[in-house]
Amino acid sequence: MGDLKPIVPAKYCLHCGNRMKLRIPPGDNIYRAVCATCGFILYENPKLLAACILFSGQKVLWVKRARPPYVGLWAMPGGYVELGETVEEAASRELSEETCVVISPGELSVYGVVSIPEINQIFISLIAPLPSMNFKATEETLDVKLAGISDISPAEYAYPPGAERWIQLLYDRLRSGNAANMPAIIRTVRSSLA
Ligand SMILES: [Zn+2]
Repeated sequence: MGDLKPIVPAKYCLHCGNRMKLRIPPGDNIYRAVCATCGFILYENPKLLAACILFSGQKVLWVKRARPPYVGLWAMPGGYVELGETVEEAASRELSEETCVVISPGELSVYGVVSIPEINQIFISLIAPLPSMNFKATEETLDVKLAGISDISPAEYAYPPGAERWIQLLYDRLRSGNAANMPAIIRTVRSSLA
């Protein structure tokens, strides 16, 4: 990692407004944007996203995205975890914003962790039975549907090709009837492996 010199992620210091320079801070081994004036170091880390898997029998609740990226493609309800929020609170909030389904954060269990290092994102997916059939599209979604494995074709998902196997595994687990109580899955999605 340290020998890859990245593009300066910020030109100017967030604290004092002076120029940032790329350097490896003492005791570190990765290039960071460092303020030459006040010494502020910009640490950049992957973005954390929370996703909801709400199931009914062998079907899963999917949303058709209305906002970029991937407009018109199907995704699990979810989005970025905001500052001050827990993962389960973020999942619950995004779920109601995108589908009108209300579920309390405490009812969600960890299903899996998917890292997509190429785009610096980590998804934590949480699972629960769908509490009601009162779901509908909102201003953030074009459509919401409860779909089985064959109801959405691989090209219609808002995920890189490597995610297909992970979606298949989800439906396999649902078929077993115990998907919400199985050990969490840890996966890495890399488009180069698809
Ligand atoms: Zn500064």
